[in-house]
Parts: sequence; structure tokens; C-alpha cells
Amino acid sequence: MHIILLGPPGAGKGTQAKVLVNNHGMVQLSTGDMLRAAVASGSQLGQQAKDVMEAGKLMPDEIMVEIISARIAEPDCVNGFILDGFPRTTAQAEALDKMLKEKGLPLDFVIEISVNDAVLIDRIKTRVAETPEAERRDDDNAETLRHRLDVYHEQTTPILPYYQSRGILKKVDGMQSIDEVSNQIGVIISAG
Ligand code: AMP
Repeated sequence: MHIILLGPPGAGKGTQAKVLVNNHGMVQLSTGDMLRAAVASGSQLGQQAKDVMEAGKLMPDEIMVEIISARIAEPDCVNGFILDGFPRTTAQAEALDKMLKEKGLPLDFVIEISVNDAVLIDRIKTRVAETPEAERRDDDNAETLRHRLDVYHEQTTPILPYYQSRGILKKVDGMQSIDEVSNQIGVIISAG
């Protein structure tokens, strides 16, 4: 099964992807995690990613498409994968389609985890207050989040109607508890 988890930053895509990995043995492909690994390694890509992520902006499409294209060619992806954080722009969505078509792979579901902006801002403020500075992500603060939300609304949400028109977009209310969200995603997937 090939699934995209879409939703604003902080909606719980990563958390839900991990539940799917545990319950369904799928592989999580998180472009954010890949970029954070590049930052930690100190590579050239990592240096670029560090500045972009701290500013709450997006990395260039060509770089992200190349990263995902190489990753989905790896053997652990043969039984399916969950894309978490990709695609984030129309260009990325189009490139993904092309990649899947070339490999003869279907895109089964695009699951949108929706949470309104005010709730996300409240959540981040609580998280910042409760998390020691050393354990916080560099982009995990209210100011960067506001920018990331603008980027999400401007660049990522325009992808949704395209998946909707193909009948593969499923919407889940991300304001529920983690377990409730997981259950709903589980229902969607088992119906597929
Ligand atoms: P995430 O962990 O998915 O929230 O991603 C953290 C940051 O990594 C984002 O705010 C972007 O700066 C960058 N990033 C992750 N995925 C992508 C992508 N598909 N396209 C462009 N930038 C990305």
C-alpha cells in the first residue's frame, strides 16, 4: 500500500506514520527526518537544510524529488510506504505521480489530518513550555510555526483538490486523541 499523510505542521503526521509502521509493517518516509539526519551529519545538503528549516521555508523541489526518488527505489519499500512530509507542493505531487507511474505503483490513499491553526499554535506554546531547550527541534517555536502554516496553506493545500478529484483523498479530524485518529486511519486503510 502507498499512502500519503498530509496535514499542517504539528498535526501529528509523524506520530500516525509510526503507528502505521507498528501496526501494518509499512515503511515511513519522512522527508523532515531525512533532512534532520542530513543536518546532523553536517553534509552540504544538511547545511542548506538547517537554514531553510529554521526559517520555516521549504527546500527546493528538485532536491526533495531527488531524495524521495532515490529512497523509494530502496528494497525496503517494495511492500509499500507512507509518505510523511512529501509532497508539499504541486511540483512535488506531479513528480511523485510520474515516479509511481514509471514504477507501475498505485497511490492508494492521501490522508489529510486536519487541525486548525489556532489549536496548533496553542499546542506548540505548551510544548515549548514543557520541553527542555536541548530536546527541542530548532524549528519548534510559535514564530516559525506561523510561517510554516502560511507556507502550508499557500503551497501544500492546493494539492488537495487534485487528489480529491481522483477519489483517493480521505479526511481525518486531527483534533481528536492520537488513538482516535489512528483508529480512523486504520478504518480507511482496511477498507482499501
Ligand atoms: P517536517 O518534519 O515534515 O515538518 O519538515 C521539517 C522541515 O523540513 C520543513 O519545514 C521544511 O523546511 C523541510 N521539508 C520537509 N519536507 C519537505 C518537502 N517535501 N519539501 C520541502 N521542504 C521540506
